[in-house]
Amino acid sequence: MKSRAASTLRMLAGIAALIGFALPSGAASSGSGLDLSNVDRSVPPSVDFYRFAIGGWLARTTIPADRAEWGSFDQADRTTIERLRRLLESPDQSLAPVGSERRKVGDFYAACTDLEGIEANGLSALAPVLRRIAALRSVSQLASVAAESFALVPSFANSPLFSFGPEQNPKDATHVIASLSQGGLTMDTRDDYLERDPHSLKIRRAYAAYVGRVFALLGDSAARGAAETRAVLSLETALAKASKEPADLRDPLANYHPMPMEAVVSLSPHFAWRLYFAGTGLSNAHAVLMDVGQPGFFTALDALLSSAPLDSWKSYLRWHAVSGNTAAEPKAFRIAALAFRRAYYGVTSEPPRSESCTRATSNALGFAVGSLYARSYFPPKARARARREVASIKAQLHEDLETLAWMGPVTRAHALAKLAKLNTSKVGYPDHPLRYTRLTVGSADYLADVIAANRFEFRRQIAKIGKPTDRSDWGITPQTVNAYYDPSMNEIVVPAGILQPPFFDPNADDAVNFGGIGAVIGHELTHGFDDQGTDYDGDGNLKPWISPRDAARFRVRVGCIIAQANAYAVGDGLDLHLNGRLVAGEATADLGGITLSFRALQASLGGRPAAPIAGFTAQQRFYLSFAQIWRSKIRPLAERAQVLGDPHPVSRYRVDATVSDADPFYAAFGVAPGTPMYREPGKRCRIW
Ligand SMILES: [Zn+2]
Repeated sequence: MKSRAASTLRMLAGIAALIGFALPSGAASSGSGLDLSNVDRSVPPSVDFYRFAIGGWLARTTIPADRAEWGSFDQADRTTIERLRRLLESPDQSLAPVGSERRKVGDFYAACTDLEGIEANGLSALAPVLRRIAALRSVSQLASVAAESFALVPSFANSPLFSFGPEQNPKDATHVIASLSQGGLTMDTRDDYLERDPHSLKIRRAYAAYVGRVFALLGDSAARGAAETRAVLSLETALAKASKEPADLRDPLANYHPMPMEAVVSLSPHFAWRLYFAGTGLSNAHAVLMDVGQPGFFTALDALLSSAPLDSWKSYLRWHAVSGNTAAEPKAFRIAALAFRRAYYGVTSEPPRSESCTRATSNALGFAVGSLYARSYFPPKARARARREVASIKAQLHEDLETLAWMGPVTRAHALAKLAKLNTSKVGYPDHPLRYTRLTVGSADYLADVIAANRFEFRRQIAKIGKPTDRSDWGITPQTVNAYYDPSMNEIVVPAGILQPPFFDPNADDAVNFGGIGAVIGHELTHGFDDQGTDYDGDGNLKPWISPRDAARFRVRVGCIIAQANAYAVGDGLDLHLNGRLVAGEATADLGGITLSFRALQASLGGRPAAPIAGFTAQQRFYLSFAQIWRSKIRPLAERAQVLGDPHPVSRYRVDATVSDADPFYAAFGVAPGTPMYREPGKRCRIW
């Protein structure tokens, strides 16, 4: 289980879900552990470090048509997907015994690639739920259909009405409670529904066209479709208005409101909660604690339930039932979805089907696919080396917490106690992966298989509610190119997917690995001690331990980062700046990561001067490696979406701002006063 507070290295859903592969992979490293063809020596590092470090790559790279963004994460992901595709297409899977996990993986993939079968089956797998929506006679019956609809979609994030799932009790980390939070939107952020700038208006027009097109495909008349589209937009806009801004979701205490089910019922009396919980399979709802993240949202939802006509809700539920799984639906639906993504992100084509299907299988049967991947591509030697990296960075954090000047003795004692309990054992893959024994696929109807997989995952999540916390659970699969820190588990998870170049290379030297995966590990570890991390103790309980005086000192230091980010212009021609308050946590972790990891490099060198490799010192290659992992090209529209809703800053900022706050960077590249990269020592942000 991933708590809603878990901090990933990079946004998991949204843009990342659209990626595909179309470019040849980059040139091989030349013994330096770095791809030196990425370096642009025509630009001095003191003038524009990002260009110097990856200008060669920027010059020769175009974003593939099916992608909103293209960078090191996407390239590593492409490598993984290509490896997985070969595994999924192998007879080892397709000819494995019926009922085995291997066979389920092979069957799911095969059904996905059978486009003729998908056309022939149409939306018949959705027929039961569409019939129930059509038969609704009152708003009070809506809850049971909503419960059923939840299980249709692949993630809690795009479920109708609101989000519902398990959550480790923030005040008692040993138990799992129910979590209810704002949601019910289709587009990524509330701003997409509310902003009045020309781009937002254009996106909303494209969205309305998409919704209208889907109703037309469902056979509705033009007049009826137009009315239904207005209903969907009006309900989603009302839900967007009732939602908090993304930056206001970062404060765990402000988004924690535990209450018994009766109190939830009185927050939204027009919603038949008992019917709803029974429909989701939560049999003992009256006995479990419920955390209502944003009570104001549920009050507003109630007003909407009592005021909006039943027909509007039916249109809304119908839209969500059909739009949640377009990749598994006939071509006309996929084309409609692509037209919207073109307006929203700027992508112009779908990924190759084999890639979409590999990704879909990797999502639906994630840990079964992850076991295949780890067995073939993540040898014990790589796991052992990665564990050593984690241990060296953790040792640096220990030293840092012991000596940080802004931290008083009481806070320091709490911090060290928390670090002692921080679990770093989840590296590569779980030793006891999730089993898919109770999932049945291979129905010869791919959409039905997708719904079965979604329902399996939904039931698995709901079954956690009211039970003791399972500390062996992983929030992302082994093949995912990402990492996270979860404050309610007090642990970092570093999957095999990110333990590959350019992040990690078991055959490269320390400078490259510390600049890459070392900075990633440091980023995640410091999350345990930042403005969110200091709210949780070593056992994962929401129990702030930083003293008020130290919290104030920390805020002053983060204020430096906020000001730095607010001044940073992004989105070619879109007149946008980073939202400092939104990205402060992630930018702080980036600075923490690079600070700790550089010290780990110095410790490993033990004061001995390392001979330069390919003309670069170990310290230089550390920073070059850091820039390599954040190399990225992004379409302006996608960058806009990222700036509005993603707590992670844009890639270029992650490099330039972070290194110019790091003192050793100046010595490594001889960056002198008066050059563009130079920042006065007194103006450099310092936290860790
Ligand atoms: Zn992070």
